[in-house]
Amino acid sequence: MAAPLRLLILGPPGSGKGTICKKIVDTYLLAHLSSGDILRGHIIRETELGKEVKSYLDNGLLVPDKTMVNLMTTEIKSMAQNQGWILDGFPRTLSQGKELARHETFRVALYLDVPFRTIIDRVKDRLVHLPSGRVYNLEYNKPKVPGRDDITGELLTQRPDDRPDTVLRRLESYKEMTEPLLTFYKKKEQLKTFTGETSDAIWIDVKKYLDLLS
Ligand code: ATP
Ligand code: MG
Repeated sequence: MAAPLRLLILGPPGSGKGTICKKIVDTYLLAHLSSGDILRGHIIRETELGKEVKSYLDNGLLVPDKTMVNLMTTEIKSMAQNQGWILDGFPRTLSQGKELARHETFRVALYLDVPFRTIIDRVKDRLVHLPSGRVYNLEYNKPKVPGRDDITGELLTQRPDDRPDTVLRRLESYKEMTEPLLTFYKKKEQLKTFTGETSDAIWIDVKKYLDLLS
């Protein structure tokens, strides 16, 4: 049997990782492990971990590497042996990337190269359904009923870290902490770059590429 497809997705906050991942998991039947969604789930359920990490997320700061590596390697290990997956939001620092390499292998890291200007413009219009992580945009991808999730009908909210000042802080931290990972994977020839301004345009290229891989 062919090895299960295992991928990473990298890109600045608001670059559409969640949107592209949803299309990828629906098309190639992978499990979607989104570190942000997993952390927000803990915060909603008020677990010990949720209490520990809430202030980092609210302020757009990175959760400490050790906490993230423990959380995500445990999540990955809970997957069935033959299950393909895509990691979204993890690793996010060079040290997380090096730790991941000690535990797991993957086929390729997809890098969504979206200009910062585009991101700042569209994050202000973003709404999420927190329990599922489904993302909507008032410009590009409106919910069927205004302010409501298409599937459950529950209320959509703006993420506290999507406020413009916090978005800028997240982009700064991305430049400093996450860009070194791109270099790391590029050197290992594990990085595939997709440049574009909309998720629809990027998806066309990602699908072409993955159809040849899988
Ligand atoms: P988007 O999902 O729009 O691309 P994003 O990647 O900034 O934006 P999430 O991935 O949802 O957002 O992460 C939200 C927050 O969760 C981060 O700002 C950070 O506080 C925390 N977080 C998520 N993943 C990690 C990680 N690998 N390391 C450290 N902190 C993390
Ligand atoms: Mg995300």
